[in-house]
Amino acid sequence: MLQTIGNSTNNLIELEYQYAAHNYHPLPVVLSRGEGVYVWDLEEKRYFDFLSAYSAVNQGHCHPKIVNALIKQAQTLTLTSRAFHSDKLGECAQFMCKYFDYDKVLMINTGAEANETALKLARKWGYQVKGVPPNEAVIVAVQRNFHGRTLAIVSASTDAQATRNFGPFMPGYQIIPYNDIEALEKALQNPNVCGFWVEPIQGEAGVFVPEDGYLAKAQELCDQYNVLLMMDEVQTGIGRTGKLLASHHENVQPDILILGKALSGGVYPVSAVLASDEIMLTIQPGEHGSTFGGNPLACAVTLAALQVVEEEGLVDNAARMGELFRQRMRQLQSKTEMISAVRGKGLLNAIDIRETADGRSAWDVCLALKENGLLAKPTHGDKIRFAPPLIITEPQLQECCNIIEKTVLAF
Ligand code: PLP
Repeated sequence: MLQTIGNSTNNLIELEYQYAAHNYHPLPVVLSRGEGVYVWDLEEKRYFDFLSAYSAVNQGHCHPKIVNALIKQAQTLTLTSRAFHSDKLGECAQFMCKYFDYDKVLMINTGAEANETALKLARKWGYQVKGVPPNEAVIVAVQRNFHGRTLAIVSASTDAQATRNFGPFMPGYQIIPYNDIEALEKALQNPNVCGFWVEPIQGEAGVFVPEDGYLAKAQELCDQYNVLLMMDEVQTGIGRTGKLLASHHENVQPDILILGKALSGGVYPVSAVLASDEIMLTIQPGEHGSTFGGNPLACAVTLAALQVVEEEGLVDNAARMGELFRQRMRQLQSKTEMISAVRGKGLLNAIDIRETADGRSAWDVCLALKENGLLAKPTHGDKIRFAPPLIITEPQLQECCNIIEKTVLAF
């Protein structure tokens, strides 16, 4: 029999703790509603969402155009599998290829699956086009990377939390430091390297922005050594950093583009990999796929979500609001010892928190922010990422900066 319990915040947190796996450590807030830049808890307290579901809700919570596309398609046809054609996949694929300027797209569900797809594509291309000897392919990845949680992906991780007691790991990686062109050039000299796998800004690691020119130089080296540049824009893509793709800050067009999260505006899991025919057509029927990948619901939602980005000028807004945000955070940094760094691009930003003498940390700052009506989450201990929906207006952003300032200065 189901246990009857009340709907209070503490009861729901307890229920989740008792029955759901402990694979996350959420802030103690129970959300029940979202609209635009706001979410509400059970007591109808309103918060600014400064995480945006790890940058999946760039278009804002429950965007009416995206939700309507979802409802309309859900009432018509949701899933055919790829055993048959649907009347939505071709249209969506064409739209995405033109939107991002690629020959072909492979649609799948989560960011991790899109990265898995990219790894498989790079290896296939390595064997079939570059001529790497069988089972000798190497993918170059970087320290502090985050590409998801599957075994193939964490096999390239340098984060102990992601790897501890999950071995044995998949071979075939070489790990080099991030933002280090010399190390990259050295690694690419190995003729068995088929791909360089990298985030244009390391979001999960704490919003580490490489030096200007790093991505462009990486592309140049990949071209020179006949290696595929595999760019994971799952978090940085779809306007987040003030360009449609973070790669565009350096006019880089990766050979393999990996997208997820905000492709669906946060209403449904959709991810995608885009590439040229030369790369994508190395995969033949039966060699890769997923029951849900590219389903009609995903296609309808993706079309609407990408249209919203364009129609509402979200890319430019992210660039302008991001400048303002960092300006305010730097002003704040000059007033307190507690902030040791401010970093970011567009609306993907982070501050580093110096622990107070009495041991209060970034987690405590996030708890206090919550009390003051703003939700953010620490990443890797002392860093707080700030990534509101890209629809945020200037008055809203100023209000949020006031909240952050008031909160931090009270410590
Ligand atoms: N790649 C990057 C850069 C990410 O930030 C994330 C998630 O945070 C992923 C991949 C994994 O995406 P998902 O959680 O949808 O599997």
